[in-house]
Parts: sequence; C-alpha cells; structure tokens
Amino acid sequence: MNEIKSMPTTERKKIKFLQLIFVDINGVPKGMEVPIERYEEAISDGISFDGSSIPGFQEIEDSDLIFKADPSTYAEVPWDGIARVYGFIYKDDKPYHADPRGILKSITQELAKKGLRIYIGSEPEFYLFKKNGTWELQLPDVGGYFDLVNLDKAKDVKREIALYMPYFGLTPEVLHHEVGAGQHEIDFKFSDALGTADNIVSFKYIVKAVAESYGLYATFMPKPIYGMPGNGMHLHISLWKDEENLFVGEDGLSETALYFIGGILKHSKALAALTNPTVNSYKRLVPGYEAPVYVSWGYRNRSALIRVPSYKGKGARIEYRCPDPSANPYLAFAAIIKAGLDGIKHKVEPFAYVEENVYEMDEEKRNKLDIETLPSSLREALDELEKDKVVKDALGKAYRNFKEYKEREWEEYTEYLEKKDIPLETKKVT
Ligand code: GLU
Ligand code: MG
Ligand code: MG
Repeated sequence: MNEIKSMPTTERKKIKFLQLIFVDINGVPKGMEVPIERYEEAISDGISFDGSSIPGFQEIEDSDLIFKADPSTYAEVPWDGIARVYGFIYKDDKPYHADPRGILKSITQELAKKGLRIYIGSEPEFYLFKKNGTWELQLPDVGGYFDLVNLDKAKDVKREIALYMPYFGLTPEVLHHEVGAGQHEIDFKFSDALGTADNIVSFKYIVKAVAESYGLYATFMPKPIYGMPGNGMHLHISLWKDEENLFVGEDGLSETALYFIGGILKHSKALAALTNPTVNSYKRLVPGYEAPVYVSWGYRNRSALIRVPSYKGKGARIEYRCPDPSANPYLAFAAIIKAGLDGIKHKVEPFAYVEENVYEMDEEKRNKLDIETLPSSLREALDELEKDKVVKDALGKAYRNFKEYKEREWEEYTEYLEKKDIPLETKKVT
C-alpha cells in the first residue's frame, strides 16, 4: 500500500478551526469557519449568519438565520487540521423552512414515532479529469468497467479516498472502475435516510479534496461528456419497523414493498425534478447507457426504473435507478419516502412490470404494458412536480424556494440557447 499522499505527518494536529456546514437548495455544501472554541456555543445558542446569497434561501430583506451544530456529525478533517460539523438552520427560534437537512429530519422523526425507519444505500459515480493549468479537461485514463492495473490510472486516488472515508463516519465497501474512461464508483455502507444523505455530502467533499491533491478534477455531473456513460446515483431502499425489514414477504417481496414500488412508479415523473434536478440530468436519461428512460420495474432488469436485486434473508430492497448525483440528497430522499408511503397508504399496485430490455421495445408494446416515459427535460419534470401534491408536500414551504430557483435555471438555459441560435430539443425518445 502506498503511503497516503496527503495524510498529515502528525496525524492529529491541534484542531483550531471548525467548519459549520449546511447545504443549499442544490445540495451543495456551504458554510463558515469559526474558532474551535465556539463549538459549544454553536451547539447551544447557534451561530447567526446572513443567508441572503445562499441559493434557494432567504430573500434579501429577511435573511438572518442561525446555524445550530448537530454534534452527532462532528468529524476531524485529517488533511486540513480542522474539524467540520453539520447542523440545522433556524429562523426566529423555529426550524427554517428551506433547510434541506431539517426537512428530511422532520420526516424521519415522524416515521420514528411509529417505530419506522427507511434505510438507503447509494452508488454515486464520478469522473476524474486532468487539470492542465488552463482548465481544459482531459480524461486521465482509457479504462472501462472493472478494469485494473495499468488501465485504472486512478487506483491510488480511489484507495486514498476510501482510507479517508472512516474519518467522516463512512464505511467503504467496493471500489471499481466504471464503464466510462476516467469514470469510477466507490460504494459505502448503507445507513438510515438522514445518515446516507449526510454521507453523500461527505463523500463528494472527500472525493473532490483528494482529487484536487492529485491535480485532478472530480465531477459528479450527470452527463459530463456526450456519447459517454453518465454518472448515476442508484439508491437501494428498504423500510423497517424496529428490527424487521417490512419488505421481506413470505415468498419474495412483501405486499408493503410492492405498494412502495407502486407509489414510486406513480410519482416518478414528479420525483424526477428532485432526483434529476439539473438541465444536464436529462442528457443522461437516454437509451444505451444503463440509465433508465421508461417508468417500469422488474426483478434484476437493469433497463427498468426500479430493479429488485436478488437478496438473502433480511436484505430485501428495491434499487431506484434514475437518481443522479446532482440531486440534493435530503430533498430527493424526503420526496422518495413520501411517494413510497403514499403507495402503501393507497395500496398502489405496481404497474409496468418488465423483464425484457425496455430500450428494445417498440412504442406499441410499451403502450400495451403501460410503460410511460420519464420526463425528457427539466422543464417537463418541473411541470410534473407542479401537478403532484404528494411530492410537493414532501418539501413543505420549501417547494416555493425550489421552484423559483429551478425556474430561473431553466430560463437561463433557454435564454442561452436563444442567444446562440440553438434549437431547444427536448424530445429525444420516439
Ligand atoms: N452509469 C450508469 C448510470 O448512469 C449506471 C451503471 C451501473 O452502475 O449500472 O446510471
Ligand atoms: Mg455503477
Ligand atoms: Mg446499481
């Protein structure tokens, strides 16, 4: 094993600063640093800040917010000699309505009152680019799926990332080269919904920092290069009551699991606005790259939107395949949980069951099987979201913040296309 390249020689320098981290409406970590002596105060009274310039947060005339540290997330950043902690945001002593972490926490707390817990495992993919001083990016290797040795030029980078993960509470499980040249995946142990959302934020933070120390640029952009595989973030989901996995049936998946699948399928078009929230997200959802395009489900079928992986004992779960790593994990999980629970509440039978390759079916056959198409642009996804009360309600009052921010994003995109005289092409599936 190589020496960890950026590990400090005296591993535990005296910690002098503490980063207080929350995420904006896009799931991008933001924060401020305070001297470590203010940690107690950050937990009890909180630290006030001006939220007016945080994407999706408060309007300028009313932007005084308070960050309160959640000590269960405290971690020391080994390469930096500082510590970091996540927290919740308050306004006038009440939880701030657009704090993504607070939104997910209140949903998981509601579940916990009934002894329920959602477990989520995630599979975020990323590309590593070379930086050559001019910000012109070059792919650093020519490897493909599961390639090793000389074809995997990033093996040391991945190992270093994995060795840092436990400092932040993540347990690395599998490291591998993905299908695209320069594309990689590192999976870590599943956790409850809030824990996994935190872990995804930490994971990107580690990957980006370690890549930087190697002169590389890591991107989780859903489709960085046309014609190459996109970056997905498959989610493995199960619902538990105390120590019992409610997705385990007597002979295969339980009825609860099937209704949960029904709920996700029913709301999947609106969910896309949260699981695939960028203009670029929809460039990934095209046939031919193992990314889903159609609303369907199946056992082991990797062309379906929801796949039921084979499992043993308590491992029953569903794999939701459209989410990508540009999602704000807190908001996406909040919406997915509410959609699944809606399916259970209204006993929504899963529809569009397929075991064949959906990409190869013609339209007639897809219609016969009730297979619909996922939104083909952020525009379509936002329109679907607007129509879906269950998914909108999952965000509470933050729906307005999300909508305003995303409408502006779409507007900027179409304005740019107009300026460059590029036609807006949103229909890609015939
Ligand atoms: N890269 C594929 C995607 O965009 C996923 C490949 C896989 O891990 O199955 O979803
Ligand atoms: Mg993968
Ligand atoms: Mg997968």
